[in-house]
Amino acid sequence: MNSEIVNYYSPNFDLTEKEVAQRTAPSYCKVPIWTPKEGQNLIRILPPWNEKGLVFKVLALHWFGSKNNRVATLCLRQFQKRCYICEIIQKLLAAEVLTKETARVYYAVKRAFCNGLDLKELDKGVQIMSLPIKKVVQSLINYAKDPEYGDFTHPENGYDIKIEKETAGLYPDYNVIPARKSSPLPDRRYLKELYNLDDFENIWIVHSYDEQKELWNIYADVIRTEEEESDEMGEPKLPEDIPLEVGKKEVDLGV
Ligand SMILES: [Zn+2]
Repeated sequence: MNSEIVNYYSPNFDLTEKEVAQRTAPSYCKVPIWTPKEGQNLIRILPPWNEKGLVFKVLALHWFGSKNNRVATLCLRQFQKRCYICEIIQKLLAAEVLTKETARVYYAVKRAFCNGLDLKELDKGVQIMSLPIKKVVQSLINYAKDPEYGDFTHPENGYDIKIEKETAGLYPDYNVIPARKSSPLPDRRYLKELYNLDDFENIWIVHSYDEQKELWNIYADVIRTEEEESDEMGEPKLPEDIPLEVGKKEVDLGV
């Protein structure tokens, strides 16, 4: 009886699936960051990005949010600015919402970043690699300073690095093994593709104090429970009226 033609759109479930699975948490870097995978990693660390000769750039980051929506933001205190995350941790400590123990996960942690090649996925070209300082970078520096091994970044006489990552308990363990023989870079063109790790305009994203506040209000899970299961965007639920001065505890940044 009713033959009226009504147009409609065909669904694209691939696109829809992507949309639903999308991780919305913003990053602190404009390019994807390589981190060691569980098990064996084989990498080549590339030479410094400028004449200063630094192989690693060290940055302090705060991490928060849920497992699927981890937010990282650069601690603003390393730039001699007020950092909202440091301040809210102090507020929550003073209000006893956080204990000294539970607050620790929000403290800024330092990571070392370098230019490198994942030799198992060379098609990705030069990547910015994030490595733990005490468990990996310190050993790398020890190898470089040991005349037996020397400079692992050298394009001709450098050497590959094996990093074994194993997570048995809460925190992963790393084993750093230099290659027995030196080898040239797979291709010298990689030397022209180094990221400038001092570039805070095009590489790193520095959230402002207000942006940090917004991120914290959306993603932090200090007060919410069951957040892993929740699809909510997370309304701001943090007490705004706690005076910052109470307690005056300094958060140990270690930077
Ligand atoms: Zn901070």
